Amino acid sequence: MGNASDIIKVGRFAPSPSGRMHAGNVFTALISWLSVRKAGGRWILRIEDLDPQRSRQEYARLIEDDLHWLGLDWDEGGLSDAGAHGPYSQSERGELYEAALSRLMATGRVYGCGCTRADLRDTEAPHASDGRVIYSRKCKPEVMPCYEPVASGKSLRLWVDDESVTYVDGLYGERCVNLARECGDFVLRRADGAWSYQLAVVVDDALMGVNEVVRGNDLLDSAAQQIYLYRLLGYEPPRWMHLPLVCNGQGVRLSKRDGAADMGALRARMTARELVGYLAYMGGLLPEPIACEPRELIGEFDVSRLPRTRSIRLTI
Ligand code: GLU
Repeated sequence: MGNASDIIKVGRFAPSPSGRMHAGNVFTALISWLSVRKAGGRWILRIEDLDPQRSRQEYARLIEDDLHWLGLDWDEGGLSDAGAHGPYSQSERGELYEAALSRLMATGRVYGCGCTRADLRDTEAPHASDGRVIYSRKCKPEVMPCYEPVASGKSLRLWVDDESVTYVDGLYGERCVNLARECGDFVLRRADGAWSYQLAVVVDDALMGVNEVVRGNDLLDSAAQQIYLYRLLGYEPPRWMHLPLVCNGQGVRLSKRDGAADMGALRARMTARELVGYLAYMGGLLPEPIACEPRELIGEFDVSRLPRTRSIRLTI
């Protein structure tokens, strides 16, 4: 029998190939990579191309090229599907999501929802702190649990309990979210058949053996939804570490539309070593932005140095 210290740290980087990476994506990749490399663990590259309209293979190729350029290597995954837990692109993992959905259906917590976007927008239902509408449960059957088959063309929602989910984030500490009041019954599969991020991310992280998730703090509260799914599916949740969001000079969170901070623009004006050194400095890992390679930071890496603010501002 192994003990806890024998468990290998498995982290992952899970970009959506809907555009070129920006400095915020790179910051997440760098911190996740350093945390795994410091622990002698494994780092997985998973392509989160769930949304067929927005995902492009070309962007996935550029993500790989940018990671190579930066000096961030992965042990499993990517477009070549190297490793024992493939495929590593979500668009090819539908059968696994289908199997998880069947198990969730069997809990009697899943119901069909025929509400349109306009219905959701016009509802009087309360809003979550980030502005999302908390679903009014208009379509929820009176009697739950419900084992009725759902007609196609409806989205599938998960009925959540009025209870608090508590977890400890590696950076922001203890978090407590009441799913029914702060999030609402959430979608597992959209009416057009597309899988929800929440379901896919849980199935993938669980089946790939990921035990440390590092990502932006825009997803901090969604960890509660994910814990709920981990429990229903009988999987062990990972540890989460959410990072401050990287903002542009105006203090607005970087998006794929911020051309000046995307990797194309950054590569044109600085070297990989300069960018890595700068991001490490922003992350509190270096006293000054000294050009360096990611592997030179492994020894320095210490979670306690990372900023615990909501955001950090990019000044390059
Ligand atoms: N695919 C998401 C993104 O690119 C990340 C999701 C996650 O790390 O859980 O923002």
